[in-house]
Amino acid sequence: MDISSVGVVGAGQMGNGIAHVFALAGYHVILTDVNEAALTNAIALIDRNIERQVTRGKVSAEDKAAAMSRIKTTLVLAEVGPCDLIIEAATERETVKQAIFEDLLPHLKPHTILTSNTSSISITRLASRTDRPEKFMGFHFMNPVPVMQLVELIRGIATDQETWDAMHAVVRKLGKTAASAEDFPAFIVNRILMPMINEAVYTLYEGVGSVKSIDESLKLGANHPMGPLELADFIGLDTCLAIMNVLHDGLADTKYRPCPLLTKYVEAGWLGRKTQRGFYDYRGETPVPTR
Ligand code: NAD
Repeated sequence: MDISSVGVVGAGQMGNGIAHVFALAGYHVILTDVNEAALTNAIALIDRNIERQVTRGKVSAEDKAAAMSRIKTTLVLAEVGPCDLIIEAATERETVKQAIFEDLLPHLKPHTILTSNTSSISITRLASRTDRPEKFMGFHFMNPVPVMQLVELIRGIATDQETWDAMHAVVRKLGKTAASAEDFPAFIVNRILMPMINEAVYTLYEGVGSVKSIDESLKLGANHPMGPLELADFIGLDTCLAIMNVLHDGLADTKYRPCPLLTKYVEAGWLGRKTQRGFYDYRGETPVPTR
């Protein structure tokens, strides 16, 4: 299957990273969002991030210019419909994602492959609401996309082999590595990672440790490159809570219940780095723990 044009829906931290790596790999990218500022910020961030690669000698100035010229933005969702491949990377809420796919349907080409970058939501259920469940799958990039090597490929119950093979070939063209996961809540990476982050929040909530001592313990005691609370802020606390809710609802096991303190941070709008406050306050020169 020949894929040359890619539509990316949602220009947040994942959408901009996805647009960045596809454009550098030679694909024509159309990036859409409901928020005009998100599109403007995404282009500025992609430019800055590719420039950093140029400075490090990993990308030439010509390749950067060519990649930037391959990225278009639009506020009109329908304009991404005719792409060969669509990657939905909007907010981690099932109703939002379903509405996007429903609105896209009339504008798709017959061969268009639909994918979602969801961290946890059922691929089979999202696919069942479209006209092409066999051409629908999970395409889960890691954050930050230009840096992280892995892409999880998630097969819904109806996903056909041709679609899986086409996405596997795309992952190879991006120079990344694919891991295959079955469609169960939160797949592989977040099934394992998110309960650890949630447990770190419980450890804070119960007063076992402070933000600083919890993060230092895992960095120095388990050799993790980032502490779990720092990582939660990096991912986004709303996304972490949404994933825990999917695990809790989907696997019906109390061991997945989201920590009330995580819920409280989300209620406060303290979502981590993207809102400048979470378990740390990022408004000054160095991050300061908020508890
Ligand atoms: P984000 O909050 O940074 O960005 C979400 C973007 O979606 C926002 O710009 C928002 O305006 C846009 N959006 C909301 N509704 C929309 C709609 N109807 N149409 C178009 N755009 C819309 O979130 P993110 O961290 O980029 O996460 C996006 C997706 O990627 C989620 O499904 C999340 O689970 C997944 N994901 C996140 C991470 C992570 O570490 N943050 C990692 C892997 C996958």
